[in-house]
Amino acid sequence: MSQSIQPTAVFADLECLRHDPGPGHHEAPARLITLLRLLQGQRLRHLPLPQFPGRLATEAEVLRVHTEAYLQRLRVTRGLNVRLDADTHTSPDSYDVAMHAAGSTLAALEAVYAGTARRALVLVRPPGHHAEPDRPMGFCLLNNVAIAAQHARQALGAQRVAVVDFDAHHGNGTQAAFWTDPTVLYISTHQAPLYPGTGAATEVGEGAGRGRTINIPLAAEHGDAEYDAIYGGLISRLLEQFRPDVILVSCGYDIASTDPLAGMSVTYEGFLRIVGHLCNAADLLCRGRLVGVLEGGYSIAGLEEGVAATLEAMCGAVQVEDPRGPLVRLPLGDAARHLHIYRDYFDI
Ligand SMILES: [Zn+2]
Repeated sequence: MSQSIQPTAVFADLECLRHDPGPGHHEAPARLITLLRLLQGQRLRHLPLPQFPGRLATEAEVLRVHTEAYLQRLRVTRGLNVRLDADTHTSPDSYDVAMHAAGSTLAALEAVYAGTARRALVLVRPPGHHAEPDRPMGFCLLNNVAIAAQHARQALGAQRVAVVDFDAHHGNGTQAAFWTDPTVLYISTHQAPLYPGTGAATEVGEGAGRGRTINIPLAAEHGDAEYDAIYGGLISRLLEQFRPDVILVSCGYDIASTDPLAGMSVTYEGFLRIVGHLCNAADLLCRGRLVGVLEGGYSIAGLEEGVAATLEAMCGAVQVEDPRGPLVRLPLGDAARHLHIYRDYFDI
């Protein structure tokens, strides 16, 4: 679908280096340093990647997703090292950094809506998709992508928002934020069984939101071919029927074959195809509007390969063909067993 190389705005927020969950923690500042070096190096020099400053989120913007009581619990960690749960820790600046991570995601969304950029990639930390409206979880403090989805709906005029999450772990927080909301389609591919244990295909949302949560649990070892078929075949068709006004992507690079915390086998080529399919869907459905947000990814090589491929695909530097044909003939991995569930809500 992409005809020429187009600029992709990059929001790499240096403020996000100031969150440090402690020695030996996987979600370390070094993750972002790796990506800043990638942006400055030779590898991506051929791509137009204008960089923009981030901003702080306002409390009102955050409170569209999180509860006042939870925000207060987070606010009082200012200046302190606090263990919020077994693997989610704060350092003295973490509250402010979390407000930056959320705010820079909003700034990217605003840039895409203003037409400043066709697409944007937001490189921030801590990640967000495990954070639920009323609690932190799994390295995550504020749910950046959920806050952005609400911003699109409530401030930018979007009628329907799609959030697609390719992190190895299920985004329980994003799912919880939109469980009964028919205007936000949440689609997650994730390794199962794996932390946090949610994300069964039978979890489809409730009330008016029924059928607006699509979980695609996958056994370990799924790789480029399965992800290509699932994103080009199944997920592209779901998006075409939902017709979102913008696509937000939780970019979890812990599906990389080198990741220490998960067991998937995605390489550079797989990331190229995942993001390429999503960009094709955005071009077809919503004037190209797509914002990717960094979630997980804990190997240096996996982050470098994943983000390089993401930016190549976002700029349209590669052509990705949709593997059309009957879904049952595509290598859909474990998703093939769940097609009857998805067909209760979508004509696929
Ligand atoms: Zn993850």
